[in-house]
This record gives sequence, structure tokens and C-alpha cells, in this order.
Amino acid sequence: MSIVTNKQLLDHAKAGKYAVAAFNTNNLEYIQAIIEAAKELNAPVIVEAAQSEIDYMDGYAFTAIVRALAERKPIPVGIHLDHGPSYEEAVRCFRYGFTSVMYDGSALPLEDNIANTKKVVEAAHACGVSVEGEIGVIGQAEDGPEGPQNDNFGLADPDECERFVKETGVDCFAAAIGNAHGLYKKEPELRFDLLAEVEKRCQVPLVLHGGTGIPEADLRKAITMGVSKINFSTVMRKGCIETLTETLNSNPGELDLMKLLTPAKDKMKEIAKVHIRMCMSDGKAW
Ligand SMILES: [Zn+2]
Repeated sequence: MSIVTNKQLLDHAKAGKYAVAAFNTNNLEYIQAIIEAAKELNAPVIVEAAQSEIDYMDGYAFTAIVRALAERKPIPVGIHLDHGPSYEEAVRCFRYGFTSVMYDGSALPLEDNIANTKKVVEAAHACGVSVEGEIGVIGQAEDGPEGPQNDNFGLADPDECERFVKETGVDCFAAAIGNAHGLYKKEPELRFDLLAEVEKRCQVPLVLHGGTGIPEADLRKAITMGVSKINFSTVMRKGCIETLTETLNSNPGELDLMKLLTPAKDKMKEIAKVHIRMCMSDGKAW
């Protein structure tokens, strides 16, 4: 098994009551770290990138590297567009060879989000690509005095979620349930009551964004309630940059880039392993 769609990954995860860890990436060392960690833990994994990260790496180069590293490994790997901003970007990703795209129309009125997501789903399914949608606004943790989780702003509405899934045909979706991107100012309080209601009404696998900083017990509880994909981005970048800074400071004048990057890569691999275990996906490769 090597490159698969997120629908395949998430349906398997939901049935098995675990989640697949999805890591944002934008360079070779990141991708190596993620795939090596997943291989060593015999875990399925998702390598994902936002549009800016894809532009930075070149979309064809990105998928070629992921495929080259994953295809010789006995683990299933998804290649996913994170927070796709438009139909056009989704279509470009089909050509690059992504197996899954997110279309994020959460900032639009519901009618427009449904119409655009449906259009992406029709094109994606014709190409054998799966689609993640978003309902509610998953903001930045640094917004607001104590983060967005302390007011009800942007929380997903179960009625809207039910309608969204029915009318768009998405394979999975991210619902805002008190989570946010970036570093939380205080421990987030996930709205498990909302998660339960959304899961009951929608039944497709759910995606949790902003995994960095959510306590492990809460992640595990969310997984048992239907969350099948968890996004981690900040924790990897933070670990990489801190390690790289230490290495640069302790090796002044070093000109071998491999020597400088290897400790950062090893750190990212270690962080990826911790988060794969939190998702309870270790040993779940199929
Ligand atoms: Zn996100």
C-alpha cells in the first residue's frame, strides 16, 4: 500500500476508532520526517500543504517527492491540499497528483459555501480525489484576548452541517467546535456536546484542525466520538525552528547544510511520532 485517498484513510480510521495524523509540510526534510515516523510506527499518515506551501515547493515537485518516499513503504499515505481557497486551486491539485483536497468556503454565506463545495466535489470525484469541507470558522488562536474558544463566534451549527453534507456530498469535513489554528493562549475547551450532535446528524468522518496544544485526553475523546483526521502544523514548525536555532548557535561557521538540517529533521520525526501515537494510529497501517 502506498498512495491512497483521504476517503479511504478516514473511512478505515472511523471504523477502527482512531484518527489519521495530517501534517503540513513545505520542504524535503519535513516530508522525510513524516514518512519515516509513520513507517517506523506502521501508521497511515497524511502529508498536506496549503496553497502557499505548494507554490513554495512547486506542486509537481511536492507530489513527486511524497510519492517517491512513500511508494517503497508498506504504509498508506494521503496527499492533501489544506484550506484550498478556490475551485481553480483544487483543479490544479488534481493535475499535480493530490489524492485529496480541502475546499474551505467557511467564510462565505452557507449557500455559497454549499454551491462551491459541491462543484469541487463533482470535479474531484470524477478524478478519484476525495474532498474535505469546512463549516463554522476555525480562527487563529491568537485572535481575541483569550482565543476564539471563549465565545461562541464561528462555532459550527449542526443544522447547517447536516445540510452541508447532504447537499455537497463531501467525504469528510472540519467543523469548528472550539478549536483554532496556531498556539492557544490557554487550554482550549472543545465543545463535545456540539461534536456529538454533529456526528449524529452527519455520520461522515470529521476533521479536527488546530491539533497543536489540545490535551491528549481531549484528542482521544474526540476520536472516539468520530474525529478521524487531526491536523498538526504549528508543533512541527516550532520544533524544527527551535532545533535549527540551537544547531546554528552551537556550530558557528559550519557550511555543511546536511549537518545543520539533520537535527531539525530528527526533531520533526520525533514530534510526528508523538502525535501519531496521540491519534492512536500506530500499528494501524493497512
Ligand atoms: Zn486548518
